[in-house]
Amino acid sequence: MITREDIRELAAFQSNGDSCALSFYFQPRTPQNKSHKEETILAKDLVRQALREAEQHGKNACARDDLERILDVASQLHGNRAKAKAVFAAGSKSLWREFDLPPHLPGTQLFVNRRFHLKPLAFLLGGQPKLCVALVDRQRGRFFELRLDELKERGGLFRNLPRGRSEGYAGYDGGHAERRVANEYKQHYKQVADRLKDELEGGLWEKLVIGCHDTNWSEFEANLHPYVRQRLVGHFPADVASLTNDQIRESANHLLRFSLEQRRDQLLREALEQAKGNARGVTGLRRVLRSLEMGEVQTLLLGENYAAHAVECGSCGHVDAHMVPFCPLCGKATRELADVCDAMVPMAIRRDIELFYVRPDPEFDKVGNIAALLRFRTGQARTPIAAAS
Ligand SMILES: [Zn+2]
Repeated sequence: MITREDIRELAAFQSNGDSCALSFYFQPRTPQNKSHKEETILAKDLVRQALREAEQHGKNACARDDLERILDVASQLHGNRAKAKAVFAAGSKSLWREFDLPPHLPGTQLFVNRRFHLKPLAFLLGGQPKLCVALVDRQRGRFFELRLDELKERGGLFRNLPRGRSEGYAGYDGGHAERRVANEYKQHYKQVADRLKDELEGGLWEKLVIGCHDTNWSEFEANLHPYVRQRLVGHFPADVASLTNDQIRESANHLLRFSLEQRRDQLLREALEQAKGNARGVTGLRRVLRSLEMGEVQTLLLGENYAAHAVECGSCGHVDAHMVPFCPLCGKATRELADVCDAMVPMAIRRDIELFYVRPDPEFDKVGNIAALLRFRTGQARTPIAAAS
């Protein structure tokens, strides 16, 4: 499964001269596929088409060997496989990376460019935290890691409870046994809560989902440490002993998606509001690019279908929304970017900027379908000093 380090490596890659960076995405079973052609056949057609262009027009000629190799990969894919696939290749740099991905890509696609096309990856990973799923009842604690649809169990805790009232005597002894049981499961809850706290402190995860019987939830929740509670995405009703991995994954993913959507909407409103007051928000390509280059951006928000022309300086890397032939910063020649996202998305990944894609939204559309929430605003910090001098 792909890691953040893998994605950073791809984002840092830039070919120089005539070499190519090739990105191939395979999505099994696309609902939009009306042609009823097998996805694998579509994938092979796509690669063959690029190969023909390489041979006839010299276009993408730099990628010919990689294309041949991708054709091999595509030939071995089966339409009924459960996972999507991504291949990134730059033969000139001896770079070849293959990843299985959850089958939620927009479609099967092939890109030959100077950089890897990372939008589908960013789409998949946007805002995705390291997620812990813990299942708890009065005796058991089970701990899982959930990343990109892959659920891994990381062990558990089990406590033998002393026999309860039904087996004891009525009256004093019965009550005593009951208190002992209550004490045992309180200890158990505390142990589970302590482990969660240790794991959070150790950087094992960032967000938490808990599966727990509704009847046990309030007695368990009271044990959570305040900063563990801050990381809680939600809880779902669960029978710890009988729940299957698929059910765990589905319930946790559902809660995570909901919370990510809420967070995205909240950040969007905040960015738009802050931009109106010239505070910690900017909108429009020109201002967002400037803030990105100043290192001010905390969260980047892009419309799902956002694309725009821009130029990039071949020397210092400056990206400009105006189609200027020479770089305004260093004076060297610029080159055209068919889509500014090809430069902007890797920039966001390299700098650990949180990236969200936003569904069509009228208010966002008015400001150009691009906005950023800032950590700070350089210009403003200077204003009082300038005013004083
Ligand atoms: Zn420059």
